[in-house]
Amino acid sequence: MKPSSDSLVLDQPKRETSASSFDVARIREDFPILKTKSNGKPLVYLDNAATTQKPRAMIDALVRYYESQNANIHRGVYHLSQLATDLYEQARVKVQRFINAPEARQAIFTRGTTEGINLVATVFGRAMLKQGDEVFVSALEHHSNIVPWQLACQHSGATLRVIPMNDDGELLLDELEKMLSPRARMIAVNHVSNALGTINDVRRIVKMGHAVGAKVLIDGAQAVAHNKTDVRELDCDFYAFSGHKLFGPTGIGVLYGKRELLEALPPYHGGGDMIETVTFEKTTYAQLPNKFEAGTPDIAGVVGLGAAIDYVQSVGLDRVAAHEAELIKHLVEQLRQVPGVRIIGNARHRAGAVSFIINDPPIAAHDLGVALDMQGIAVRTGHHCCQPIMDRFGVPATVRASVAMYNTKEEIDVFIAALNKIVAAEAKMKAKLATAQAPSAPAEIVYPKAAAASPQAAADAVAEEFDLFEDREAKSEYVMELGRKLPHTFDLLKKVTTRVPGCMSEVYIVPRRVADTSDRVEFVADANAEIVRGEILILQRLFSGQKAKDVIDFDYEAFFRRIGLDQFITSQRRNGLEGMIRRLKSSAAELTGAKS
Ligand code: PMP
Repeated sequence: MKPSSDSLVLDQPKRETSASSFDVARIREDFPILKTKSNGKPLVYLDNAATTQKPRAMIDALVRYYESQNANIHRGVYHLSQLATDLYEQARVKVQRFINAPEARQAIFTRGTTEGINLVATVFGRAMLKQGDEVFVSALEHHSNIVPWQLACQHSGATLRVIPMNDDGELLLDELEKMLSPRARMIAVNHVSNALGTINDVRRIVKMGHAVGAKVLIDGAQAVAHNKTDVRELDCDFYAFSGHKLFGPTGIGVLYGKRELLEALPPYHGGGDMIETVTFEKTTYAQLPNKFEAGTPDIAGVVGLGAAIDYVQSVGLDRVAAHEAELIKHLVEQLRQVPGVRIIGNARHRAGAVSFIINDPPIAAHDLGVALDMQGIAVRTGHHCCQPIMDRFGVPATVRASVAMYNTKEEIDVFIAALNKIVAAEAKMKAKLATAQAPSAPAEIVYPKAAAASPQAAADAVAEEFDLFEDREAKSEYVMELGRKLPHTFDLLKKVTTRVPGCMSEVYIVPRRVADTSDRVEFVADANAEIVRGEILILQRLFSGQKAKDVIDFDYEAFFRRIGLDQFITSQRRNGLEGMIRRLKSSAAELTGAKS
């Protein structure tokens, strides 16, 4: 159906499907990006927990909006403004139906889950929290459902308490029951964990919270794209989610709230559209939902979100859930067979995502991510904005594979095959090194001598080596190979210095002045990712043993351009590398007094 620009009728689900069939090939046709290649290989997109890809119908709705429907809403008397307003408010009705909210005005448009939670934490904190009150978050939360509550507690004097979890990554709700008392004012938990995929029993949490008079906010960021959401059935007080994790645009999200609560709470942002009357003495606020939507909103984003919801409804979330359950089952079964794997979290009820590390041989999550990327496979590596979860499991980072409705078993097989290959290659390499060399931990730390007459001369030599490699894969492999040559001083250095800020991996650098000189510096360093260790080896060749002034003056941007760094290193890694160089430059200045 081609909606006309004047169409004011709510779009109806368009796809005719039988309940038993789930035609994933047909669904894939709707997502243009799935036909693209990544690093010359068919894209295998397994980072859906970070953001989902977009269906053509959603992209078209955005284009249509800007081409023929754009005007500011709620203000104009002219046709276009009314059309845009209608589209905006229709999308609200779509959201209402999607989450089964009693009324459309209970769905507040936000920039995303983060803003929704911040909104509640701020206004609830202002109006309803005081010294002695307790706010509960869980050990499984994303930072965006921790930090806003920390701020609210700091401002109000309330205490933040944490619902514990077991080694499978499941919340201990019997413990929560014991912790709860009438002091509890708020429980904020996620519906599904983005790091481990655990589905939390939020229905039970809501009941427990209400039994002691607490309100319950659910972070639904990872739930809405995977199963039906029914806020009435959950009986939660607030429910927040993001459009971009639901096949919609970035920068748009929804906060649902119970009407009496939203009405009782003060506004969040002040500005246009959220007022009834303004004088310098007193302002009265608009009714819901406008009270919480100050300023011109992301109208196109809302329209896009409406189209995304139409799309999801047309596929049917029951069937999506069944398809994804199969995918996750397959993924876990296959992962368990990968040598040296440790799956982090083993919840009985899981959706969307699986986290793991490779322990034997140990391969840093970031290195795995880079190696998989070369095969066109997109997974997320890092702490997933859940540092407390990483601490709880004693790991700095994990690899997370997360699925959406368009993923296939075949893609998972491609991912597992690539993983097996990487692990086997690493094991072979480690075995070779073990027979060829002494054990990796050195007895003493050796500071490398100058590799050339100046950093520039060393850089020229390094650049010539890079010229030998044609593609990014080979260049990146080379850096990894260099990394294997760097002596292992990680544990020693970690004891004597602090981590270099700004790096995704743990990096430790110990610089010093070269003995018997006043103007030369040298350094040792190590990291917990092979590719960063390779970067360190290059930096040592460039800088260790060199004149501090030359280190400070070295134009690393030009060097990065010369070797084509951006082609084979992610921008995050580049930031980390710059962080190391900054640390080296500032130490060179501090140690010798040299200036640029
Ligand atoms: N909560 C959870 C569980 C999430 O996974 C995310 C996104 N990773 C967020 C909150 C934050 O969502 P957004 O960045 O879209 O605001």
